Amino acid sequence: MKKETIVIIGGGFAGINLAKGLDKKRFDIKVIDRNNFHSFPPLFYQIASSALAQSNISFPFRREFKHNKSTSYHMGHVKNIDVENKVVTTSYESIPYDRLVIAAGTTNNFFGMDNLYKEVYCIKTIGEADHARDEILDRLERGCMQTDPKRRKELLSFLVVGGGPAGVEIAGALGEMKRDVLPREYPELDPNDVSITLVEGTGKVLGTMSEKASAKALSYLKELSVDVRLNTMMKSYDNKIVTFADGHEEYWETLIWTAGVRGETMPGLPEECVARNGRILVDEYNRVKGIEDSICALGDIALMETDEYPKGHPMVAQPAIQQARNLAKNLNNGEFTKKFKYSDRGSMATIGRNRAVADLPGFSFAGRIAWWIWMLIHLVSILGMRNKINVLLNWIWNYCTYSTSLRLLLRPTKYPIRRHWGD
Ligand SMILES: Cc1cc2nc3c(=O)[nH]c(=O)nc-3n(C[C@H](O)[C@H](O)[C@H](O)COP(=O)(O)OP(=O)(O)OC[C@H]3O[C@@H](n4cnc5c(N)ncnc54)[C@H](O)[C@@H]3O)c2cc1C
Repeated sequence: MKKETIVIIGGGFAGINLAKGLDKKRFDIKVIDRNNFHSFPPLFYQIASSALAQSNISFPFRREFKHNKSTSYHMGHVKNIDVENKVVTTSYESIPYDRLVIAAGTTNNFFGMDNLYKEVYCIKTIGEADHARDEILDRLERGCMQTDPKRRKELLSFLVVGGGPAGVEIAGALGEMKRDVLPREYPELDPNDVSITLVEGTGKVLGTMSEKASAKALSYLKELSVDVRLNTMMKSYDNKIVTFADGHEEYWETLIWTAGVRGETMPGLPEECVARNGRILVDEYNRVKGIEDSICALGDIALMETDEYPKGHPMVAQPAIQQARNLAKNLNNGEFTKKFKYSDRGSMATIGRNRAVADLPGFSFAGRIAWWIWMLIHLVSILGMRNKINVLLNWIWNYCTYSTSLRLLLRPTKYPIRRHWGD
């Protein structure tokens, strides 16, 4: 019997779990991803703050698939989906499919402030987190040499926009750098010259978590001398001037944007299956509405509106993993009989050493125990034994020394320009 070809766009949590769960005797599986590795976004903020190296939380697809001849990796950025002829075109090739699964996740949402992508630092991809880290380290070095106090403060002021988990975690990590690393390794700097400000448009940080977790996170941030401003909405950012919704303006050179996400653009999909925030509308089997027979979508990019989750499932790892497993079962069975039902296992966020908040079904808690559990869960979830050991060793090292040995300021060589990259 001829094998059916399943093409998966995106090898994140959803894509890789689907590829693992599919019946290899029945399907030829082709995974397309613009990166040649799977990575672990919950720890991107630790790359930006120099606590971990990129390689610690990334895993090459080819190694993941090496024992499985039915699964292949295709590097490329998806340029078009020809729904009628069932062909995906990437920056490098055209790949025919019998069934397509879109698991491309989300990208930064700048809410119409189109200049922002050139101006602000983000931590939505490993490349962005790297870039943010280099800028932070560069500024610390330049701050050490700067004799003008006003200019030094400008260099060392960091504005984080967005009080969700990513914003809270990066602000906490910067606060910890200021408290623990600067006095030890940057003796030329007065830590009081470094300022970290977090602005959040609503009245609480970690908006999707419980009141208790949110209040605790706020107090942890304050302990780390992060200036948190709630109910503060940024309206624009031009020539380093941030304008807030109430009209007042402030000068900020370094802005880390974590305030919004939208579905990755998938050119070629009919407009009626894409919601306003770029997410793809799916039914309860993860089949794309209107093209159920040939295309499915999973994870962050999929918007499944149910009575329990009218705005779709939370955009975190568990729904992506669980949807992938459910879809694999349906595809392996050859018919769509099992509807997706999300089993909520809770949520966590960490704000520096010994400080984490956790909302588990039925109760919430915070502090050292939450932090240890957070570390354990993340260690277990990272792909690859070598990575797990590396991350654990790094964390032990950081914990004992109050420092990291990863503060390398990497400057990629500019020439020759690799023009085909990101085409
Ligand atoms: C900074 C940060 C912190 C987070 N913290 C947590 C946390 O603590 N806990 C938690 O549960 N969740 C967290 N999340 C959310 C979690 O990472 C996502 O919910 C999860 O990654 C979604 O999985 P996915 O497979 O749908 O998408 P992703 O994991 O984003 O994977 C998408 C894949 O598609 C590829 N891709 C995208 N577009 C294209 C294209 N056009 N062509 C080719 N390939 C493409 C990407 O390279 C990527 O590999 C965090 C996210 C971020 C960014």
